[in-house]
Amino acid sequence: MAALRRQFPILEQCDLHYLDNGATTQVPRAVLDVIVAHETSHRANVHRGVHRLAEAATEAFEDARATMARFLGAADKGEIVFTGGTTGAINLVAHAFGNRLAPGDEVVVSLLEHHSNLVPWQMLRDRRGVVLRVLPITGEGRLDLDNLGRVVGARTRLIAVTHVSNVTGAVTDVARVVEAARAVDAAVLLDGAQAAAHGPWDIPALGVDFYALSCHKMFGPHGVGVLWARRERLAAMDPFMGGGEMIRTVTLERTTFADPPQRFEAGTPPIAQAVGMAAAARWIEALPREACHAHLARLTGRLIEGLAERARTRLIGPAGLQARMPVVAFATAGIHPHDVCQVLDSHGVALRGGHHCAQPLMDHFDVAGTTRASLAVYNDDGDVDAFLTGLDDALGRFR
Ligand code: PMP
Repeated sequence: MAALRRQFPILEQCDLHYLDNGATTQVPRAVLDVIVAHETSHRANVHRGVHRLAEAATEAFEDARATMARFLGAADKGEIVFTGGTTGAINLVAHAFGNRLAPGDEVVVSLLEHHSNLVPWQMLRDRRGVVLRVLPITGEGRLDLDNLGRVVGARTRLIAVTHVSNVTGAVTDVARVVEAARAVDAAVLLDGAQAAAHGPWDIPALGVDFYALSCHKMFGPHGVGVLWARRERLAAMDPFMGGGEMIRTVTLERTTFADPPQRFEAGTPPIAQAVGMAAAARWIEALPREACHAHLARLTGRLIEGLAERARTRLIGPAGLQARMPVVAFATAGIHPHDVCQVLDSHGVALRGGHHCAQPLMDHFDVAGTTRASLAVYNDDGDVDAFLTGLDDALGRFR
């Protein structure tokens, strides 16, 4: 794993224990090189020019779509819509799918959701009179799937839940969600923001209909992401945004729309970013998957044990390593998470403190916020050691 770490220039340059990967991961040299090469030799707008640069840019952009299709196990690249990220992808579905719902139709979310997978549905509720139902969670911060039967019913049209929680690290048992959805003919959307870096996944095999991810959490650039959706779902949806590139014909009176995925890609897309995202996906595909998972599980175990050994810390999330990703959030009695983060920063440890865009979850656990350490494949024992040393300092300073 030391060789992996050396592939990240920022980790070489900054003397930093970077444990804020749930917010954004760092970018390896191989991906940075692809972005620079694209901007240096292929920069042009896509789909519209006939000159050679435009053709090269279009080819690179469409190749990136094919790579993302492979990364997610999609049937074909027409199921990949480039978006600005997870938030953009979920808002797209909340409009393009949501606007077809009738007043009284129901959308199921959970208490675990990032605001990105809650607020767009609240806005849909207010726009369309759709009813929002909320799946509760278990004491250790997993979806309470035993209660699915209480919130999923004949009027459920969509279940929109997280694949991996950005607070508790819990991995959703997708098969049970899909089973409940199928029983009432509802669609399933998974928020894959925290799962993408741990791919590649076979998303269609999970049985879901929509999948949203952000590239910046999977070793690639900001400002780009993917909505994967089954071909028939995309075909049944009207556009979300209007503009260039999403049309077939336009007169002053009316417009006919392009087929998916272009129908959902109005305007100039993030081109070099999409090319960089494909490079990031290829980089992940080349990782030794089992070894990475074992490495991350071991470090996650060390973090959880370290918290258990320290008084005044309370893990918010499963204590076991089963169906759990390397996201470890905890509350500190009598110390605000921002203070914890500040002390840890003085030890060169980068953490995240606050509500993690999951305020209802914080209310549920009755905390103002938590401190979160989240790992990526380049983290090592030295990072965990520095975290534990810094945490002792923080706990000692605020008595
Ligand atoms: N969902 C989850 C679970 C997340 O962790 C995040 C990012 N913190 C998002 C959605 C939103 O992602 P983005 O800001 O990249 O759109």
